[in-house]
Amino acid sequence: MTALGDLLIARIARTGPISLADYMADCLMHPEHGYYATRDPFGAAGDFTTAPEISQMFGELIGLSLAQAWIDQGCPAPFTLAELGPGRGTLMADALRATKAVPGFHDALTVHLVETSPVLRAAQAKLIPDATWHDSVDHLPDAPLFLIANEFFDALPIRQFTRDGDAWREKMVGVTDGKLGFGLSAAAPIALLEDRLADTKDGDLVEHCLALPSIVSTISAKIEMHGGCAVIIDYGDWQSQGDTLQALKSQDHADPLATPGDADLTAHVDFAAIAANTGLAKFSRLTPQGVFLERLGITQRAQALATKLSGDALTSHIAAHRRLTHPAEMGDLFKVISIHPSNANPPPGLEA
Ligand code: SAH
Repeated sequence: MTALGDLLIARIARTGPISLADYMADCLMHPEHGYYATRDPFGAAGDFTTAPEISQMFGELIGLSLAQAWIDQGCPAPFTLAELGPGRGTLMADALRATKAVPGFHDALTVHLVETSPVLRAAQAKLIPDATWHDSVDHLPDAPLFLIANEFFDALPIRQFTRDGDAWREKMVGVTDGKLGFGLSAAAPIALLEDRLADTKDGDLVEHCLALPSIVSTISAKIEMHGGCAVIIDYGDWQSQGDTLQALKSQDHADPLATPGDADLTAHVDFAAIAANTGLAKFSRLTPQGVFLERLGITQRAQALATKLSGDALTSHIAAHRRLTHPAEMGDLFKVISIHPSNANPPPGLEA
């Protein structure tokens, strides 16, 4: 068992079972032993890789989409260019490089990064030294907000509930025979899940992300009031149904209770919950990542980059293009949604 596992076993033995969300929060962000708090997990040698780490094209095209949205909204200045959970900072660095030639864009922007991991903040500072860091979206400036979130919402802790008649039993993490194990709380009606009684039956499992509503409503209110847009990319679907909790270690699936703090834990993103919390701002149609990137011209960009490559570099460039866009790879599993003001259009690549 990991050091964090021992701490959790002792705590649960003392104070009782904890919710899955509390378990995930400690596994990911415990200051001493949390997965993100203590390491850089990305890349070939790490536990998983993400779209911006696969190819520079990803961040370039998203940066250009945001720059076009900024032009379409009349080039507001000054404005905030923000990212939630920037990882190594690769996406933002690629977006900034690609938008250098957009007249006025760089003069008008300040970069704001929302990141809780000190290790990843340090990695981001190497690529984007002029950024300002925040622990939460609450501290983003009151200014036009152009925002990116790639694989951010999937890292937020979730609770899981199994339907029992018109009530729910919550999945808890407890201790049996000295080991962590899952159990279910006693059945209770839960007002928060009232609307899920319509689309579930006895025995179905639903997930609820605690932090999502306030994050989405905070950024949506800024976007509606000051202008801007948010491009949110993640894996998941319109409504979460069933158990999507996943642990990844060394690019392989793992048991989520086996090595607390040493494996990445994620859950599918419930895009309907994002849409439900946009307030007066509008949201776009949910669009597969492959379609979004094709609309932004990824194939033309890939061809242009390919002219300068040969041998292994060319082979891996072609594989990266396929990996980002093909329906059998990330093209369909990952989805994109925007939040934009009620008086503006979605950014290029997305439709109302
Ligand atoms: N967007 C990056 C990294 C995705 S991993 C990429 O595509 O490569 C998730 C990121 O979100 C990490 O940077 C992690 O440290 C950060 N993160 C997780 N929970 C967070 C929270 N509650 N607040 C701020 N950042 C968080």
